[in-house]
Amino acid sequence: MTMSSLTTKYLPTVQHSGQRTASITGITIHHMAGNLTIEQCSACFQPPREASSNYGIGSDGSIGCYVDEENRAWTSSSWQNDNRCITIEVADNIVGEPWSISDAAYKSLIALCADICKRYNIVPSYDGTANASFTEHRMFAPTGCPGTTIHNWLVNGKIIADVKMKMIEGDNVKERKVWQYAANMTDAQKWLPKWNKDGSVTLISKACNLALDVQGGSKSSGALVQAYPQNGTDAQKWKLVQIKGKYNPAGVAPFEIVPVLNSKLRLDVKGGSLADKTDVQIYKANNTNAQRWLVLDDGNGYWVLVNVNSGKTLDVKGGGK
Ligand SMILES: [Zn+2]
Repeated sequence: MTMSSLTTKYLPTVQHSGQRTASITGITIHHMAGNLTIEQCSACFQPPREASSNYGIGSDGSIGCYVDEENRAWTSSSWQNDNRCITIEVADNIVGEPWSISDAAYKSLIALCADICKRYNIVPSYDGTANASFTEHRMFAPTGCPGTTIHNWLVNGKIIADVKMKMIEGDNVKERKVWQYAANMTDAQKWLPKWNKDGSVTLISKACNLALDVQGGSKSSGALVQAYPQNGTDAQKWKLVQIKGKYNPAGVAPFEIVPVLNSKLRLDVKGGSLADKTDVQIYKANNTNAQRWLVLDDGNGYWVLVNVNSGKTLDVKGGGK
């Protein structure tokens, strides 16, 4: 199951062809021809209606994932296009000409396209043919989709330029501090688990889209952890080991979180402190609750990690902003 860490809500449908048989090499932006929320759009993609998309974006800027990225959605009236492209339905805030979209939807669209392009090494391009990395429904069927506004922005280069700019901007994002803090259910305490082929997991902050990372890729006990731009290195990979027989009052067995960099170390609250704003580090395994974490699901696929010793939550400083 692969979806962008920018996803607001996972609203899966069974209306798709299963696993793609081609690599992901493009994006097709569609319009809903209506001002639907991501939930209303999801309702349109349920049986018996044979239609779907990988993503939908509402006029409030929220992003729904309907079909996992590795699966082929039914969006573009072209088997080939949907096989190689991630498809995105965008709500129109004016239904009818010029089929405009809200500023919030546009901002989310550009961010989502930039995120997809970065993850799949796609160079954004549009030339009006089905071979470019950005394609349109109207290339494959007699339809006005994606509507006048989005179409014009593809033709005049605005969307491609904005996606390229966003991709560069993302590269300039600096690291952010990670510490423990009292639970407050904000995005700064929510982490999206991305599973790696080696069975490890990379944790992406919902607040800032940065990965939980060991500073400098250090393998030494006492190295601090931070949130850092995703780079696929071992510094951002963690293995979870469940500690059987150690139950908290909620009846959930906690985990020790082991950096792939050094299996003798554990994710640890410095000095076993109970205080807010205490550093989190990797430290030699010592069998204490300062190295044990409850991994709770927020109900939307994000994890909240609570330290067993302190009861405090793994948190990005400053709300991750
Ligand atoms: Zn369409």
